[in-house]
Amino acid sequence: MTEPRAGLVQDQFLRILTREEAMRRFVEAVRPAPLGRETCPLAAAAGRVLAEDIRAAVDTPPFDRSVVDGFAVRAADLSGASQAAPVMLRLNAETITCGHDPALTVQPGTATPISTGGPIPRGADAVVMIEHTDPEGEGAIRVGRAVTPGQNLSYAGSDMARGQVLLHAGTSITAREIGMLAAVGLADIPVWRKPRIAVLSTGNELVEPGQPLGPARIYDSNGPIIAAAIEENGAMALRLGIVPDDEARLEAALREAHAAADAIILSGGTSKGAGDLTYRLVGRLGEPGIIAHGVALKPGKPLCLAVCDGKPVIVLPGFPTSAMFTFHDMIVPVLRAMAGLPAREEAQFEARIPARIPSELGRTEFVMVALAEDAEGLVAHPVGKGSGAVTAFSQADGFVAIEAEADSLPAGASVPVTLFSPGIRIPDLVIIGSHCTGLDAVIGSLRQQGLSARILALGSMGGLAAIKRGEADLAPIHLMDEASGIYNRPFLTPDLDLIPGWKRLQGFVHRRGDPRFEGRSLAAAVAAALADPDCLMVNRNQGAGTRTLIEGLLKGARPPGYWNQPRAHNAVAASVAQGRADWGIAIAPVAAALDLAFIPLADEHYDFAVARTPRNPAPIEAFRIALAESGDALRALGFTPA
Ligand code: AMP
Ligand code: MG
Repeated sequence: MTEPRAGLVQDQFLRILTREEAMRRFVEAVRPAPLGRETCPLAAAAGRVLAEDIRAAVDTPPFDRSVVDGFAVRAADLSGASQAAPVMLRLNAETITCGHDPALTVQPGTATPISTGGPIPRGADAVVMIEHTDPEGEGAIRVGRAVTPGQNLSYAGSDMARGQVLLHAGTSITAREIGMLAAVGLADIPVWRKPRIAVLSTGNELVEPGQPLGPARIYDSNGPIIAAAIEENGAMALRLGIVPDDEARLEAALREAHAAADAIILSGGTSKGAGDLTYRLVGRLGEPGIIAHGVALKPGKPLCLAVCDGKPVIVLPGFPTSAMFTFHDMIVPVLRAMAGLPAREEAQFEARIPARIPSELGRTEFVMVALAEDAEGLVAHPVGKGSGAVTAFSQADGFVAIEAEADSLPAGASVPVTLFSPGIRIPDLVIIGSHCTGLDAVIGSLRQQGLSARILALGSMGGLAAIKRGEADLAPIHLMDEASGIYNRPFLTPDLDLIPGWKRLQGFVHRRGDPRFEGRSLAAAVAAALADPDCLMVNRNQGAGTRTLIEGLLKGARPPGYWNQPRAHNAVAASVAQGRADWGIAIAPVAAALDLAFIPLADEHYDFAVARTPRNPAPIEAFRIALAESGDALRALGFTPA
């Protein structure tokens, strides 16, 4: 570290730019444009971007042709034909199949047999379908209805006319475009060279997917996400893998990437901790260097944009959600321009915000939302799990932007939702509430019935609120009424009903072989925990059913670890398994998954709140069936179906 801390911190704060200013400076420094043309064989053209307008060099079809099986005729011969007064036509001594160049003229009073796709012979101006004729001995037919000139044939150039612009420069080539290019005989296609974008992930903690995960390690998710998003936007990702937070290795990797690629996208290492390493190296890579470091975006503040000897070098924040937002918002437009693609089409829908969303003043904030529908229209549920989350992106349909000057979006506000992909499909069943691995089994069975479901894990209370507002079809809950000890039912309002789900056995979890707990009863284990000042517990969040059980065990005691209050059973089990805590209360399947010892405590009821008169009863009926059919699957997971 060469700079004094204070100088670095101050430096970062002085440089924060608005999103618009950062974008303006970046675009001005990059001047993004296609990187040059090349020709590409038709067979390899899918996914490429046309560099020129494509004109048809030939007519399609190239000749007038029949579109039915029948007889090429002169329409005038049949003007008086009817069932009652059929007209007889003599057959010419030629049969026109596909690829046969006709030799004989259709003279008045004659017809030539022709197949679909066959060239119309001279003299003919219509085709009568074979179904509308009868043979009349050898060499003649009877026709019982009239045809109009031009009937059952397509004229040369009627599909694509020679000289017509078929496809415009900037079109991204898909199977449909390949069809048009092949039909006009093009074998080599003028395309823009694909930008090569080097992708690097930095961080000592990162592990390549497929490798074992050691302690304190996480899988590199940014690298694969960014590479895929690069390919989705017309460029080619050069995956250079993971580079540790080591000056020499990072510098070497950056120089290699700079030489090999048209742009570099790194992720990680922009925040204050190790931050100055990446950013100092990027600053040395070429002129003019860093354009913006620190942008008033949420998520995404630590974004760093640079241009080094004409090549964009971008350092995305490490947290996957932040990385994806900044990538889509600020990098995709530049990439697409380099790839020769037009700006991405952004589909927007108006939707209502169910509850107030607070926002930081002074930063443009993006909130990912999943869409559901109620009687009044679309509802946009925030799915944020913090910028460290990887799943939010795949659960969300799109996002809502909150202006830098706004401190919140009020409940009920109608806002534009920008979709991640055009076209939305509201799932058949919207399930909002507490998540349980057992639910995945039921949803699997529902999918086999051809129905889609979306689960938004907003906790039992969040689910109850959503179902009361009519935004969810089902709300999975596990809430114990402290006064009565009864699960779930006491929390329903008169217009709600309960579909019984399953029971989950809760228990005291500890590492196998811990002499304080091994082989003891529940009461003895808790007493041992409370008696040992070195013993650390892991609690649960306020409002969780499990928390009520824990308070019952502690009887007012607040042992060390009490304030460690994660929101999920998995977090409790991980904490105990990894030795950050010595005991906690979690459900049996989760304890079993981490091979923890388990002393049974109580059954927790996991049920589904549902409206008495559901807006959409059919999928709920399907859910009941799926639930009934999932008994074995639930038992196999360690649950007890109701
Ligand atoms: P950084 O920007 O390096 O300070 O990282 C911020 C956070 O993002 C840390 O929790 C990192 O572990 C995490 N992170 C950094 N890079 C990646 C990556 N490639 N995939 C997933 N998480 C990452
Ligand atoms: Mg890092």
